[in-house]
Amino acid sequence: MRLSTAFFATLRENPRDAEVVSHQLMSRANLLKKHGAGIYSYMPFFMRSLLKLQNIIREEFERIGWQEVQMPILVPAELWKESGRWDKMGPLMFKLKDRKEGDYCLGPTHEEVVCDIVRSQVTSYKQLPFTLYQMTNKYRDEIRPRFGIMRGREFLMMDGYSFDKDQEGLDVNYDKISEAYCRIFERAQLNFVRVAADSGAIGGDSSHEFHVLAQSGEDLILSTEDKTYAANVEKAECAPPEMTAKLLGTDWGQETSKAFEEVATPNAESIDDVSKLLQVPAHRTIKTLVYQFVDAKKPKETQPVVAYIAGHRSLNEVKLGAVLQKAGFSLLSLQPMPPEQVKDLFQCAVGSIGPIGGPEALRKVRTYFDREIIATHDAVCGANKEGYHLVHVEVSRDVLPLYVEGARKGVDLSTAVEGEPCPQHPENKPYTAHRGIEVGHIFKLGDVYSKAMKTVFTEENGKSKAILMGCYGIGVTRTLASAVEQNNDADGICWPKAIAPYQIQLVTLAKKDEADVIAYADSIYESLKAAGVEVLYDDRDLSPGAKFKDADLLGIPYRLVVGQRGISAGELEFVVRRNREKSALKISGVASGDIQALLKDLQRALEQ
Ligand code: ATP
Ligand code: MG
Repeated sequence: MRLSTAFFATLRENPRDAEVVSHQLMSRANLLKKHGAGIYSYMPFFMRSLLKLQNIIREEFERIGWQEVQMPILVPAELWKESGRWDKMGPLMFKLKDRKEGDYCLGPTHEEVVCDIVRSQVTSYKQLPFTLYQMTNKYRDEIRPRFGIMRGREFLMMDGYSFDKDQEGLDVNYDKISEAYCRIFERAQLNFVRVAADSGAIGGDSSHEFHVLAQSGEDLILSTEDKTYAANVEKAECAPPEMTAKLLGTDWGQETSKAFEEVATPNAESIDDVSKLLQVPAHRTIKTLVYQFVDAKKPKETQPVVAYIAGHRSLNEVKLGAVLQKAGFSLLSLQPMPPEQVKDLFQCAVGSIGPIGGPEALRKVRTYFDREIIATHDAVCGANKEGYHLVHVEVSRDVLPLYVEGARKGVDLSTAVEGEPCPQHPENKPYTAHRGIEVGHIFKLGDVYSKAMKTVFTEENGKSKAILMGCYGIGVTRTLASAVEQNNDADGICWPKAIAPYQIQLVTLAKKDEADVIAYADSIYESLKAAGVEVLYDDRDLSPGAKFKDADLLGIPYRLVVGQRGISAGELEFVVRRNREKSALKISGVASGDIQALLKDLQRALEQ
């Protein structure tokens, strides 16, 4: 491609809304054009990277026998009503009406549609397993579209769906797909990690995310140094109290025979204040959190839920959600109860609520205790009276008998932190924290959707059974943004070779009157093209400085500079963008005019 005839112009300034480096550089390098919040055009050079990444994905899926389809973006509401997700998706889904007042949505994901395809054709176990995938735009009305195409409202996703007759089949498929994902991100030359992810009601080891590591990542990942275990912080299990006692020396206190008593704690508002005032470590104070949720079965009703966790911890909302899902709720929302409502319900400010005393309403509410609360002795909690706390609380003696059996078993509700031992690691090595960008997600769905969508088959024994499904996503456009996030320097992008728009940028320094230099550069360009090298030729009538600046910004992996001086010296400047090593290329062809010799040298350099 000759830049003189290309649709291309770089920007000097970062767009005002560009908070992260990938958004800044991709906007300045003319890769993206914004039209509205989370709505972008992909410009010509970006398209080349996009197609390369799509190719890698297609090749790896071809290798494991996936079949590509294309499902409609415009989806009738009936399918979504059948699965129960028409209401459940909430405001995230773009809904629209046709001229006959029929309801439709723009597909945010396609489990419903793929079930509609499969159920019309599959009847017998003999037709299983298989996997279908597509790469199409998805639509999500994100609360906060941001970071350019990292979180768009229209974005390109690869979404795949596997269909198996039994759990073993699904497990095998899942592992195979997980390996294919690793190959895809390796081939795209990204520094990534596969992490255990929250899987809500389905639970177990049935969901993993793939994260590209980058400072600007929205997700926090906890992994052990040796990476034998990595998990999204939403999922990462806290070290159980026996383990923190043993490995970190955490003192959970001694059993006390004293009865609990009320003490005045005026002006002690935070856990820290209370802990200092009462001389009890924060981890032996009991923190109360009041939330409310909406269950899909009662969509018009909000239901309260109370969680008690140790004072030094913060609540992990995803874990609380998972516990509720396990209890059979299908959550439409889960959020802290507004303080005024807490006061109405429990006649007490949220900061003073505790598990003992107070109104009976407190015992009627669904309640969960973190495992650490169960392990704590001689603890402190709110007295359900403003300005007072209870001391010498023995949880098993004073608290648990007040609650129904189900609530008495401790659960893991807290957010794990860097430095605490990882319970999944064979030697319980400590967690270290990293930031990540979620570029892929794989999930063993089981029969949740196939049951709801009546996607069944007949087993060998003649019985009818719901097909076991897995679903698999890759944020294709987000992956490219994260590649830029991970590969850049002060001057611009440093594309990984595998997904760069071009392999080499040819820059001519020829002045208008240097016909022989122009002719020479032209002939290199033509020869490279003929040899199948993807070359971007900067033949514009601009200063060398301006051309180099643009080349740095665009980040093509290699640059070859052709000017009068180089030709006379018999040496052309060959630059590796990533480390800006100037490797003056000695090219025999320059002197002799033997383009083939020059090409050979170049090919060798490009293979480096
Ligand atoms: P997130 O937690 O980032 O909102 P998600 O978990 O809702 O994403 P999935 O439903 O798992 O997303 O979608 C599969 C993949 O699609 C994600 O792993 C991500 O890479 C990509 N993706 C999701 N939402 C967006 C978006 N708004 N813009 C660009 N890519 C997205
Ligand atoms: Mg996800």
